[in-house]
Amino acid sequence: MANYNIGFDLGGTKMLAGLVDSELRVVETVKRKSKSEAGAEAVFQDIAGTLQELLEKSGKNPEEIGAIGLSVPGILDRKKGVVVRTPNLGFSDFPLVARLKEHLPVPVILENDVNAGVWGEYVAGAARGYRHVLGVFPGTGIGGGLIINGDLYLGAGGNAGEIGHMVIQWDGALCGCGQRGHIEALASRGAMAKEAAGLVANGTLTGEYAQLGADIKAFSSKIFAQGIKEDNPAITGIVDRAAELLGVHIGGCLNLLNPELVLIGGGLIEKLGDYYLKRIEKAMRSSAWNFVAQDAHIKAGTLGDHAGIIGAADLAHRASEKKGKSTV
Ligand SMILES: [Zn+2]
Repeated sequence: MANYNIGFDLGGTKMLAGLVDSELRVVETVKRKSKSEAGAEAVFQDIAGTLQELLEKSGKNPEEIGAIGLSVPGILDRKKGVVVRTPNLGFSDFPLVARLKEHLPVPVILENDVNAGVWGEYVAGAARGYRHVLGVFPGTGIGGGLIINGDLYLGAGGNAGEIGHMVIQWDGALCGCGQRGHIEALASRGAMAKEAAGLVANGTLTGEYAQLGADIKAFSSKIFAQGIKEDNPAITGIVDRAAELLGVHIGGCLNLLNPELVLIGGGLIEKLGDYYLKRIEKAMRSSAWNFVAQDAHIKAGTLGDHAGIIGAADLAHRASEKKGKSTV
């Protein structure tokens, strides 16, 4: 039996492949930039190359790998192994699993990136021991994942858990998904960056922040963390408002799902830490029903970049075990 699986986290800016052992430890990694502007075929060649490099670096043969889990930010057809659409990587109906199998004779599965991240924290990180988990990953967008009764909940078409794409302001700001008023368009790092750029334009945000101008990408999580450290009133105002809005929204989701744990992962919490978490928690507890809020803990993820690779590797391992059993 293979003792290793591979988790692969495909992101809009970088890709990270990790060799994961049977104790869910990441024992080797390879990282490359995602050349998303070069198109789907170029990104695919880099995925295959990164996997090959990981095998070489760790001295493993494909036969020693049980399964590969690919964590992908986009809409997936898991059964067909097809990436239906990704907003940032140029994939459109791309048969990623079939193409990878031409390179590596190993079972491959696809999973949504936030689901993989939440699952990683569930099996090896901050969410271990909880059976009902609402995962919320605020970053460029706001992703979500649900663990209900110990299982990843996918819904009828595999798209459950999209907490970022729920309307909280009818006809509000335009969201990355094309609809209006979603929480992602109001409280993600992208939305905060737009607000900051607006404050630069009207002269409220000054000094070194003003030099970032209207560059949405430049207003990174790190810049917001710096603004909090310096107690910059414009920056803290943006962060406070975004955290509060997100907390209110999560509070409503508590009433819907009654989870034991709200797990906050992703880029913003990594950089903003407790400052951000406390504000989310306060708003969450005040907007949910008391007796539902009492059941819910709230924690930041602890695995960082490794959550997605551990989660994808473990989901791939479980899927291949299940398949193995069903064919005997
Ligand atoms: Zn949306």
